[in-house]
Amino acid sequence: MTIKIENVRQRIANGGSDLSADVVTNGQRETVTFSRYSTDMDMEACVASGEPFLVMLLMHAMKCGQDLEFDGPVDARLLHELRGTIQLVLRAKFPALRTIAIRAHSRPLIDAVDQSSHIATGFSGGIDSMQLLSRSLIRKDLPAELSVTMLMHHDVGSVVQREQAVVNRDHAQSWAERLGLAFAGASCDMGRYYEGFQFLESHTLRTVAACLSLAPLFRRYLFASGTDTAAAMRDISSRTIDSANLILLPLLSTATTDLRQFGGECTRIHKMLQVLDCESLLPGINLCARVNHDNAGKLNCGRCFKCFPLLLVAESLGKLNQLSPTFDLASFEKHKTRSYCNFFIHALGPRQSQINRQVAELLRHESKLQPSLANLLLKLIPGPASEQSYTTKTQQQLATA
Ligand SMILES: [Zn+2]
Repeated sequence: MTIKIENVRQRIANGGSDLSADVVTNGQRETVTFSRYSTDMDMEACVASGEPFLVMLLMHAMKCGQDLEFDGPVDARLLHELRGTIQLVLRAKFPALRTIAIRAHSRPLIDAVDQSSHIATGFSGGIDSMQLLSRSLIRKDLPAELSVTMLMHHDVGSVVQREQAVVNRDHAQSWAERLGLAFAGASCDMGRYYEGFQFLESHTLRTVAACLSLAPLFRRYLFASGTDTAAAMRDISSRTIDSANLILLPLLSTATTDLRQFGGECTRIHKMLQVLDCESLLPGINLCARVNHDNAGKLNCGRCFKCFPLLLVAESLGKLNQLSPTFDLASFEKHKTRSYCNFFIHALGPRQSQINRQVAELLRHESKLQPSLANLLLKLIPGPASEQSYTTKTQQQLATA
């Protein structure tokens, strides 16, 4: 059995440009569309290619044990890796997936288009993308090849509610304007091809598909990964796809779009400290995990498992009030006891345990907790002790590095 990708085409629509293809499975034809947009770039520069659809459909085809077929040209290196190593990596994570054949032909080099000068990153307002901006735009300690000139917003299934996706997109766009960066994005309703996979198990391929749909608006895309490299190496065979980004992203790159991870050398707590050190970025933080919260119009609820640890760190540094424009600090204070309980509960997950343990260690070092409470907290949270210490000196080094 074969899943066929046919009739790839693009057209100007809704102020942007739609890239569509027909996906034919068992005789059933469905149209899949990437809606692409930019406030300041010429969308007619985008090319209609099959790569976004091949990448988007790969896990689905492997799950169904059906080959993929596309009758147009595909980047030669990407096609080679999709047929081989990328499938091996996915099967290492998801043993139930099956190896499939991919029938397509390589794009001749003569088809290569002029490269853009832009270095792009996905911007959500979370700590990972904020840390990249803090280094690229405030501290300016990155080489030009890693300095961001363009923000992107991808709606590929990270939020269930349409309204939240719009809020996040508007937030990304307003911050691109505020920072003087180019802005573009893509959205695609691809959930039907990821049934059986959680978002954290599949988001790399979803985001890469969206990135490739925008080629060649940027020549490099930096993934501000939520998993640091040390954790990724320990976690390489887990179902969380982040831990394979160091391997997958170079394999998914094309002649015109270089994909690479950023920030793997930093733990979450170090990212928090770097972001909290950049006052001008603080109003841009948008990391809340709760939707429809009664937060008096603030972007962040102040008490969910994402908001609460950051506010604990900000409080320990005496910077809580600087977060008042975007965090519901009244809710943070009101629900502190319950939030501490959630802090423990979420510490049971492998990823969150690392973050919460780092936060607890910082609080202990900053003497913000009673020693007995700090010790109890660290006993309750599983996982190895952090290799780093969080003294004031460490923060000073971070601030001046
Ligand atoms: Zn929240």
